[in-house]
Amino acid sequence: MSAAMAQVPIHPGLFTLPGDPRGTHLLAARCSACGKYHFPAGTTCPYCSAAECTEAAIGAHGTLYLHTVVHARPPGYRGPVPYGFGIVELPEGLRVVSRLTEPRLEALEPGMPLALEVAPLFVNDAGDEVLSFAYRPANGAAA
Ligand SMILES: [Zn+2]
Repeated sequence: MSAAMAQVPIHPGLFTLPGDPRGTHLLAARCSACGKYHFPAGTTCPYCSAAECTEAAIGAHGTLYLHTVVHARPPGYRGPVPYGFGIVELPEGLRVVSRLTEPRLEALEPGMPLALEVAPLFVNDAGDEVLSFAYRPANGAAA
């Protein structure tokens, strides 16, 4: 018998949840007036102020733009340290700030291909697995 832990997102509306038919994506918004994406999603476009934004599932893959490695646990962060942290450039034309699963500075390189994953980051006080998103190196990944 296995006790299945409940899974809850670290923040609602940031990413698709496991089992979503769209696959693993960030939940951005696309402006129907100017066509640009923004993340996290909001109802008003940050570029042209139009209030015509619709949800868009994007960001399954990206490339690393800037990165660092965090060794000291920031306030409120309950996941493992060290961890990578960086800016990921998405083919949809925007850059997002994200945790990186790779904690070794020497294994991270600007321009490297990354793949999005949604995975448990820590277990909260209620005993639920808290899901968060991160990018992992996609080098040589066949799947
Ligand atoms: Zn716009």
